[in-house]
Amino acid sequence: MRVGGWGYPPDFPFRGGWGTSAGYADFAIHVGLGEDVRVLVVEDEERLAGLIQRVLQEERYDVDVALDGARGLAAALTADYDVLILDVMLPNIDGIEICRTLRGRGLTMPVLMLTARDGVADRVSGLDAGADDYVVKPFAFAELLARLRALSRRRLDPPDANRLQVGDLVLDLVRHEARRDGRLIELTAREFALLEFLMRHPGQVLTRNQILDAVWRYDSNLASNVVDTYVHYLREKIDHHEQSKLLRTVRGVGYAIGP
Ligand code: CA
Repeated sequence: MRVGGWGYPPDFPFRGGWGTSAGYADFAIHVGLGEDVRVLVVEDEERLAGLIQRVLQEERYDVDVALDGARGLAAALTADYDVLILDVMLPNIDGIEICRTLRGRGLTMPVLMLTARDGVADRVSGLDAGADDYVVKPFAFAELLARLRALSRRRLDPPDANRLQVGDLVLDLVRHEARRDGRLIELTAREFALLEFLMRHPGQVLTRNQILDAVWRYDSNLASNVVDTYVHYLREKIDHHEQSKLLRTVRGVGYAIGP
C-alpha cells in the first residue's frame, strides 16, 4: 500500500511515509525531540498539510494528516495522539468545534491551533474551547516546532503533584513557596494562586476569562483589568531582575508562562 507523500489516498488518515518506526535504530543517537511523539495534523490546504508532515517527520515525529474536520475529529477520537495541530477553518467541522468536542469527551492531549493573521476572535474562542496554544498563518516552521516541542514535553513529563517547575522557577505546593534559581519570592495568596494556574499550563496561552474563572471564581465585584494588574505584580516579582523572562503577554488574548 502506498503511504505518505502528498497523494492522500482516500483511506485517510494514513500513517506517515518517511516517519514509520521501522529501522529507527540508526537514529537512536540523534535524540530527535519528536521521538515517539504521535501528532495528528488536521489541515485542509493539501500543500501546507504535506509540508507540515514532512517537516515534522524530519524531526522524528510520527505524523498523520486529515484533510477535513470530520475525518480529523474521527481520527482524534479513535487513535491515541500525543499532540494535535488543528487548523481553525476546515470543511464540515471547524477546528474550534473539534477542540470543544474532544475536551467535552475528557480528552486532554495538547492542541495547537493554526489561525488566520487577523483572527483574534478565533484565537480567543479556540483557547476558550480548550486549545493550548496557537500559531498565526503564515508561520515560520521554527516557530511551529518550538510550540510543538513545548507541548510535547508537557505530555511526556507528567508533573510531580506537589511541585511545579517552569525553567528555573519552582513552585512548592506543600510549603506554599515560590523560588527562582533558589531565590525565595514573596507572594500574596492571590499572586500564588495566579502563578500556580499559569504554571499548571506551561506553554499554554490562557485568556483573561480563563484566568478570571480559575483564580477569582465568582467574585463579581472585579475591576475588568484585575488580571492584568496581578500579572503585572507577578512579573515584577518573578521576572523583573532576571535575564530570561518567563511571563509572556499575548496581545489582545491573554498570558502564557514558559522558559
Ligand atoms: Ca483551512
